[in-house]
Amino acid sequence: MKAVAVFPGKANSAHLADLEPPDVNTIPHGRGVLVRVLRVGIDGTDREINAAQYGAAPSGYDFLVTGHEGFGVVEKVAANVTEFKPGDYVVATVRRPGNSIYDLIGTNDMSTDDIYYERGINLLHGFLTEFYVDDAEYIVKIPPTLREIGVLLEPFTVVQKGIHQALEAQRRLRVWHPRKAGVMGAGTIGLLAALALKLRGIDVTVFARQPKPNLRSDLLNKIDARYISTSEMPILDSAKHVGPFDLVFEATGASQVVFEGMQAVAKNGVLVLSSVTGGNKKVEVPADKINLDFVLGNKLLVGTVNANREYFESGVRDMAHGQAMYAGWLNELLTHPVEGLNSYPDAFSKLETAKEAIKVFYKIAPF
Ligand code: BGC
Ligand code: ZN
Repeated sequence: MKAVAVFPGKANSAHLADLEPPDVNTIPHGRGVLVRVLRVGIDGTDREINAAQYGAAPSGYDFLVTGHEGFGVVEKVAANVTEFKPGDYVVATVRRPGNSIYDLIGTNDMSTDDIYYERGINLLHGFLTEFYVDDAEYIVKIPPTLREIGVLLEPFTVVQKGIHQALEAQRRLRVWHPRKAGVMGAGTIGLLAALALKLRGIDVTVFARQPKPNLRSDLLNKIDARYISTSEMPILDSAKHVGPFDLVFEATGASQVVFEGMQAVAKNGVLVLSSVTGGNKKVEVPADKINLDFVLGNKLLVGTVNANREYFESGVRDMAHGQAMYAGWLNELLTHPVEGLNSYPDAFSKLETAKEAIKVFYKIAPF
């Protein structure tokens, strides 16, 4: 069944306030953690879920509680939880294990199952609620000094995984050391990818549509990354000047850009694909040329989705590193707050129409 997003409307919010928080002991082995939700970010996946193009409700429900970019504070822990205490700031991972070997070893982001379970996206309710409980296994601690930007961790983990996968795969080359990266798209993922690549000492060029100057180009300027507007110069022309790129990170959400990305990758380079495209777009491409260059250049194409806790942990470290290098930069991505669970019309209108919106997020409770 396709998902129907449900939100607490005015009519039932009083009723919701009367409900008891969920019980930590509903999680097996005394490993439950009760989290009070403070903030929830929204993104293109929420837009697709809301348009019934992606995602599904949990079995037995005809609605899905959305929200996969959570941030909260621990209220209560069950008897066998040693790693958290009430008052700790936390973010929960999104995907829960299925049955493949990858799920069984804690890498459920690499599941080969056809059915995958993701909180707030597919078959499991999400975090757009006052409280949730989950197993301590899926909860990651956020340092108090990063609480203002904690809601950015989940999108950052997508970037962490993509880069890590590319670097791991490129060990095939033994001496490969990326110097130039191209990032396609200057949304939250593109900007976070630019930061993560800069933190690794790589020269970064970001391609996006909006002419400069604009908020995104200003932000990239602050971290010494280049911004090229594709409305001023097509990707392939500018790639001739500033590329080719050892690593290309595609995060536009538009599948046709993949084929331009393929043509901007250097010999022995890698293209990381991260856009979840639930549509049905068709494009014509110079297939022989793209294929020939890939073959003759030993190039690599790698898809990436989701993130396991390893990437949440590296995301926290990169956030701390990012704040140390470029103090306050990550805070500037939090452009569009909306207040409370009932503000979903406002949240979606900002997501869909505000040109300068980088991260739209709900403020659900104060810190
Ligand atoms: C989420 C990922 C998820 C992916 C596919 C993204 O928006 O951030 O955690 O795996 O959608 O469902
Ligand atoms: Zn997402």
